[in-house]
Amino acid sequence: METEKATNFIESIIIDDLESGKIDSVVMRFPPEPNGRLHIGHAKAATFNFLTAQKFGGKCNLRFDDTNPVKEDADFCEQIERDIRWLGFEPAGVYYASDYFEYMRDCAVLLIKKGLAYVDESTPDDIRAMRGTLTEPGKNSPYRDRPIKESLALFDKMQSGEVPDGGMVLRAKIDMASPNMNMRDPVIYRVLHATHHRTGDKWCVYPMYDFAHPIEDAVEGVTHSCCTMEFEDHRPLYDWVIDNCDIEHKPHQYEFARLNMTDTVMSKRYLKQLVDSGAVDGWDDPRMPTLSGLRRRGVPAHAIVAFCTEVGLAKAVGVVNGAQFDDCVRDELNATAKRYMVVPDPIEVEIVNVADDFEDAVEVTEGGEYVVPHPTFIDPEKRETPVTTRKIRLSKHVYIDRADFMIEPPKGYHRLIPGGLARLKNSFIVRCVGYDCDNSGKVTKIRVEKTDEVKAKGVIQWVDKATAVDIKLRKLSAIVPNGEGDFTERINHDSLKVTTAKAEAAVAELKVGEAVQFFRIGYFARDEKFRDAFNTVVELKSSYKA
Ligand code: ATP
Ligand code: MG
Repeated sequence: METEKATNFIESIIIDDLESGKIDSVVMRFPPEPNGRLHIGHAKAATFNFLTAQKFGGKCNLRFDDTNPVKEDADFCEQIERDIRWLGFEPAGVYYASDYFEYMRDCAVLLIKKGLAYVDESTPDDIRAMRGTLTEPGKNSPYRDRPIKESLALFDKMQSGEVPDGGMVLRAKIDMASPNMNMRDPVIYRVLHATHHRTGDKWCVYPMYDFAHPIEDAVEGVTHSCCTMEFEDHRPLYDWVIDNCDIEHKPHQYEFARLNMTDTVMSKRYLKQLVDSGAVDGWDDPRMPTLSGLRRRGVPAHAIVAFCTEVGLAKAVGVVNGAQFDDCVRDELNATAKRYMVVPDPIEVEIVNVADDFEDAVEVTEGGEYVVPHPTFIDPEKRETPVTTRKIRLSKHVYIDRADFMIEPPKGYHRLIPGGLARLKNSFIVRCVGYDCDNSGKVTKIRVEKTDEVKAKGVIQWVDKATAVDIKLRKLSAIVPNGEGDFTERINHDSLKVTTAKAEAAVAELKVGEAVQFFRIGYFARDEKFRDAFNTVVELKSSYKA
């Protein structure tokens, strides 16, 4: 393999491991728990795992960490896999922790037989009380030194269904005085009478994360098991499980910082609260930082991967400005999105010096100057947006936006004014020859003349009146703006504003989720649920300065 350059500390480790011959090839995994939908933070972890494996010619699995049947279900698995594939990642394999339940149980039995695990009948409260604190060692459970035989029999009993939830647990026998709380005889199996979405009622004991995860990694031959910083203190336990379960393949855990972003919440637990409370229209509400929400909003997958790559990987935890994400989305759409004319606040305009049946077909290039093929890390082929053209009908009656006409303009106003010139975008220049107002002084109609002028300072968008389509624009803002305290008290219930607009006829053909630019207004995409409405993907201008 050609020598690759490291762009972060984990890549440096991988390069060393490959060069020293410690590993032959890289195996990684992205291991979500199917207890909610993926969010942009997961995208960072997924991007890192899939692209790092790809960079070094290795492979990356998608593995569902489905060890808690109470919170997980099959629909979340399906949605997660869809999101991962949407990002452009092809898992080498799709696996489930529950596939390894037998093997995990065998590992637990092995630990008992080695005198390294015991069944504890203390109540959950007692176990907690005996755990000690950061400054005080824990106390040994009275069951800690029970005979191996007894523990084996009781572990069987735990599996038989006779023991109620919380009645007994299996604990690793490590060190109740360890300065690392995770090493104080952690629970590795618990009784849980719950139906699992894959294994049904086969099991009534379920392994704990710290015991299950290293085994999952080992079974799949994972070489670099990367997770977020909060698991750093769990690493000794990870290694302990691998060593003491006599597992030959030894995966290693490395930790990196979580992605945090301004103006949102980022944990599945909190996002679930937003969904359950009805504050948003489901997991895929376009205001959600979930991948399904971003997709529904019209954010291209490429922009998400580009953002995650730009943010990079480090150990230091920080908060990324949400505006940086918007910049990535804007960069992508500026290069790829087609442009359409839309008028949010229409005033009728009559072109007085053309015949009643005047009709012109204005040919516009869709993209053209805007469409630049991007090099990419995933698939350069897919980047070429074909340059196409479309015809826009222009007739005697059109709409322009109220903001593009002023009777008494301030200095520097370059759009249409009484007696002034402006170009109808992609077409000829008109001169304003009159206008009507209602009683309140609001302009109700403008009259213009088609001219032969070749120069006008202002270019304004317009929509042909007869063929215009009525659409809705959904302006979205932060659902949980930054602030102190309980996030539920900061929920912005005014974060979705719907207005109407007149759009050129071709807008009727736009597909759900296809992001386009409404000229001078913003980037928009048709909503999946409200088909006559378009979500704001991102504003035109950046508010972020790096
Ligand atoms: P949540 O609190 O949102 O449920 P989690 O860590 O419990 O997050 P998992 O489904 O267990 O969610 O995570 C799958 C993978 O994604 C893990 O490797 C986890 O470390 C990583 N991950 C989760 N959240 C983030 C984040 N904000 N930034 C980077 N990686 C993340
Ligand atoms: Mg979790």
